[in-house]
Amino acid sequence: MVSYPLLAVSGRLHYRRLVDFLRATRDPEYLAAKAMDIGDFSRLAILFAAVFLCAAIIWDHAIDPINASQAAWLRVVEASAVLAWVVASREDIHSRQARIAALLAPLFVEITFLKILSMLDGGGSYGMGGILYGYIFGPFLVLAQPFGFAVLVLLMPTIFPAVAGMLGLSFGVDMALFSAYVWMGFVPIVFILLTFEYLYWKVFSYRRQVERQAITDGLTQIANRGHFLSESARCLERHRRYGHSACLLFIDVDHFKTINDTYGHRVGDAAIRYVVRTVLPLVRESDLFARYGGEEFVVLLQETPATVASGIAERMRAAVAAHEFKPAGRNTRPVTLTVSIGVSSFDPGRDSPDIDVLVHNADRALYEAKRQGRDRVVSNVDALMPAC
Ligand code: GH3
Ligand code: MG
Ligand code: MG
Repeated sequence: MVSYPLLAVSGRLHYRRLVDFLRATRDPEYLAAKAMDIGDFSRLAILFAAVFLCAAIIWDHAIDPINASQAAWLRVVEASAVLAWVVASREDIHSRQARIAALLAPLFVEITFLKILSMLDGGGSYGMGGILYGYIFGPFLVLAQPFGFAVLVLLMPTIFPAVAGMLGLSFGVDMALFSAYVWMGFVPIVFILLTFEYLYWKVFSYRRQVERQAITDGLTQIANRGHFLSESARCLERHRRYGHSACLLFIDVDHFKTINDTYGHRVGDAAIRYVVRTVLPLVRESDLFARYGGEEFVVLLQETPATVASGIAERMRAAVAAHEFKPAGRNTRPVTLTVSIGVSSFDPGRDSPDIDVLVHNADRALYEAKRQGRDRVVSNVDALMPAC
């Protein structure tokens, strides 16, 4: 049996998880995905609500055929307010005007609705049920909004009857009873919204995880070859358009087979991770760094001339050679790894923005670096540089 203190602890844990989850739902990337995936659905639901409000003229006639005609124009005004909400949300459902409309339209509808009730015979009793219909629409209308804001939108018409009652505005309706009805609508709808938010957040998290895995190299956690090639192709095209030069470094660990043959593949894997850890601090925020295959890495240096690129490559080479890699296991001695680096450059006035060509040229420069004795940087445009 679960003891009370344990329950209290687990309750606290769940509360913290809920708070963490709600915080995560404020992430801009999450909100953008939500707006994109559900925005159209919400806009459609708001449009449908406007049509529904117009159709309510028929209901008003069923309740009070004599006075309903006088109230019809209010139904049209009501529907127009909701249509204005659709228009305000047209471009971006999170825009300032969309949010203002989201806050004001439901409140406006509630006030006109109360006014209509005051005009109809038996409006008071009709209104109690009618308001619950409004709440059924609620979650769909605010589904694409941030959770906290969605609750606020629904809260406004929920607290309004109590405030109006306190101010002595009755609209011919028992406002205390009306208030009880709206709270009955509000509470389960917040739970529905919370459930939806949680499910969408789960889907979003799984999707993001899968997307990240698809572009990440499993061993080193840097970008993989496919992602590098597609991103670089885009980058190069941008460089061509703006007339900027770029460079590519092709890094290959020297005599790597010896590591595998001497210590086994597990240590070989650790050596690959070690090289990434050593090179990573020298990679700038704007550079694209990826594992191209086995013990080969590529770096696209954006907006970088060949002379600067050779300097960066040289610093990377020196950093790897300066540290010792300690293979795991007893009686193993530290090993000094070295890398050879081929550098190729993209000149917007001379070259076509072809990433395959850039990789090929860097690969040729790398081959030259190996031929010259390894542990060195060779650029395919500059004079061949000996290792420092
Ligand atoms: P060179 O100086 O000419 O580059 O010599 P090398 O021994 O590094 O030659 P090569 O590039 O041909 O060898 C790469 C080796 O890397 C061959 C392969 O067994 C090993 N390898 C490829 N992928 C992995 C991996 O994911 N893990 C480990 N441990 N080894 C790998
Ligand atoms: Mg290799
Ligand atoms: Mg190698």
